[in-house]
Amino acid sequence: MIGILIVTLLAFFLSLIIVILDSKLQNKKEGKFLELLPGYNCGACGFGSCSGMAKKMCEDINAYKKCKPLKGQNLENMEDYISKL
Ligand code: SF4
Repeated sequence: MIGILIVTLLAFFLSLIIVILDSKLQNKKEGKFLELLPGYNCGACGFGSCSGMAKKMCEDINAYKKCKPLKGQNLENMEDYISKL
């Protein structure tokens, strides 16, 4: 009985650690996306702002293609970062 309790608690704490680490990784990625976006906050992408786009990119990595102002070297930098994920 005590063994089951220990295994259950261990599984709970391990899953908690995984959720926290995943969240931190997600925030780091979102921050980097935001850094690589133009920062005009024009809303032309349909996500309201560059931070909305950065959030969307965490679900759909190709969402950045809807950002029309993202071109030239900035686009290359974004694609370079994405290719390394
Ligand atoms: S279209 Fe690009 S620059 Fe404009 S808000 Fe969206 S991500 Fe930002």
